[in-house]
Amino acid sequence: MSDRNPNDTATGSGIRTIVVAVDGPAGSGKSSVSKATARRLGFAYLDTGAAYRALSWFVVQRKLDPTDSAAVVDALPDFDFRIGTDPDGYHVSVGSHDVTDAIREPDVTAVVSAIARVAEVRTHLTGLFRDIMRHTDRPGIVVEGRDITTVVAPDADVRILLTASEEARIARRSAELVGQSAAHVGEQLHRRDRADSRVVDFMNAADGVTTVDSTELDFDQTVDAVIAVVQKETHA
Ligand code: C5P
Repeated sequence: MSDRNPNDTATGSGIRTIVVAVDGPAGSGKSSVSKATARRLGFAYLDTGAAYRALSWFVVQRKLDPTDSAAVVDALPDFDFRIGTDPDGYHVSVGSHDVTDAIREPDVTAVVSAIARVAEVRTHLTGLFRDIMRHTDRPGIVVEGRDITTVVAPDADVRILLTASEEARIARRSAELVGQSAAHVGEQLHRRDRADSRVVDFMNAADGVTTVDSTELDFDQTVDAVIAVVQKETHA
């Protein structure tokens, strides 16, 4: 990394932080793969979907109508969000509430796409993500979501689109969500992808983004493939 311009940093402070941006659709494994990649590289890990989910939880708690963009935007100044970026100490809170588990509940998942569609929400959360990226105390950070390679960190050192066939994604999600049929999981996943893709194209790699297709790979092989891309692109 010694040949890099010290001003060319995620922080703008001259301290070199390697940014690995990972995008991908629901069920592509990007959260668990990104977390494992961060752990192996000694990097921080930022799950941006958790912020959209935490805001959705907050909206549900306040009994706001998630489709009322003005009400959601009005709630933003009170949204006191915190997230752990240690891949071994992942936790999410809103105010004094630990919402790490609550944000995965179906009532939150059901409204998150509507909330993520609001432009002011995206601008606000993108600002938070950039702030977290600037303040990491590790040599690098793996940031994952749907618009990281294109909007949040388009100048990241490493930009990866993690994909898998729809069948593979449904099979993985059904294995995680015990008690729900593959048909139900498939329908939910399809619906969320369709809603999300109206806002961000996370199915096609933008210029300069490397696609890692995990359809035929197991978990460890996928992490190896992502780390190989990081090493190639950073000469680490
Ligand atoms: O990744 P996860 O499934 O937790 O993301 C939850 C939702 O948050 C997505 O379905 C999408 O609506 C939204 N999201 C987003 N942009 C991101 C991350 C998540 O719009 N960078």
